[in-house]
Amino acid sequence: MPTPTLPDTFRALRVIQDGETRRAEFQTLPISELPEGEVLIEVSHSSLNYKDGLAVTGAGQVLKRLPMTPGIDLAGTVLEDRSGTYTSGDAIILTGWGIGEAQDGGYATHARARAGWLVRQPTGTDAAWAMSIGTAGFTAMLSVMALEDAGVRPDQGDILVTGAAGGVGSVAIALLSAAGFTVTASTGRTEEEAYLRALGASTIIGRDEMPSLKRPLEKERWAGVVDCVGGETLAGAYASTRTHGALAVCGIAGGLELHTTVFPLILRGVSLLGIDSVTCPQPRREAAWQRLARDLPAAKLAAVTGIRGLSEVPELAPQILAGKVRGRTVIDVN
Ligand code: NDP
Repeated sequence: MPTPTLPDTFRALRVIQDGETRRAEFQTLPISELPEGEVLIEVSHSSLNYKDGLAVTGAGQVLKRLPMTPGIDLAGTVLEDRSGTYTSGDAIILTGWGIGEAQDGGYATHARARAGWLVRQPTGTDAAWAMSIGTAGFTAMLSVMALEDAGVRPDQGDILVTGAAGGVGSVAIALLSAAGFTVTASTGRTEEEAYLRALGASTIIGRDEMPSLKRPLEKERWAGVVDCVGGETLAGAYASTRTHGALAVCGIAGGLELHTTVFPLILRGVSLLGIDSVTCPQPRREAAWQRLARDLPAAKLAAVTGIRGLSEVPELAPQILAGKVRGRTVIDVN
């Protein structure tokens, strides 16, 4: 393939410090303003995650310095790679590793990154597919893999998914259902019952019907849990997980704290499994993306995905923080 002409400038959504406040604005910058990294990428799509909502609104201290381009996910094609790992035109995916937090991320037409952070696009997939999964779907896959590695099997009982109508929750339901698990979806939006059932949930419970932690050990209900919510929801789910069950703990949408006891760990052999998609080692990353390409039903993924433009990100960011964004949002950056 002929060497492409490298661009002189790129367009990005930048979060800047403006007096006492942080705000987001679109800027056109010289390509030399991109951060360090061997690989120059032409970004085609990014996505919207809860963390992006925090970054764009300035609601959380997600951005380690300013100005910064948010966007913790991106997919596109390689324009040049000084490490020699990739060839111009290769389709790649990048999630985590601090992009959109400590280094400029995906809300831009171009990005620079380390070659070791990238994953090749699985055969037969494209950038929009990758970003309809994004960090949220990738985290859902890591959560399901963690439960399976802990020995949780479909014949052992129901799997509870909390924050079910969100990005991680929606993809987790689709993946668990495709793997033969029976899924209970916990949601604050019971009006989304039809959506959650279409993804594969058998039972829907309202957020306020979740078992609360009244006693150290509650009635045994779940063989496994994918928890996107944290706080009291996680404490209740943990106390009601069955003997030798496991919880994949990935989110904080409902709270950071975990007030509980060690009894489920030492009297029921329950496992609390931490999920960190940002630093996930490269071999597991590649395995997760391959499995997503193989196992995530295309129709279910399409049902959870909406596509929006980069210019819409500032208005979408507060909506995801308010729990008003259903499923996954792909951002077309062009
Ligand atoms: P979304 O905003 O798409 O989904 C979060 C869901 O949590 C909402 O849809 C809602 O579900 C539920 N929720 C929101 N607010 C509350 C509340 N106050 N109390 C209880 N439930 C609430 O976010 P994502 O799916 O992208 O992310 C989910 C969580 O996982 C976030 O905390 C995020 O930071 C975290 N995360 C962690 C990763 C990791 O590597 N560990 C990677 C990706 C995400 P419903 O409408 O069904 O009630």
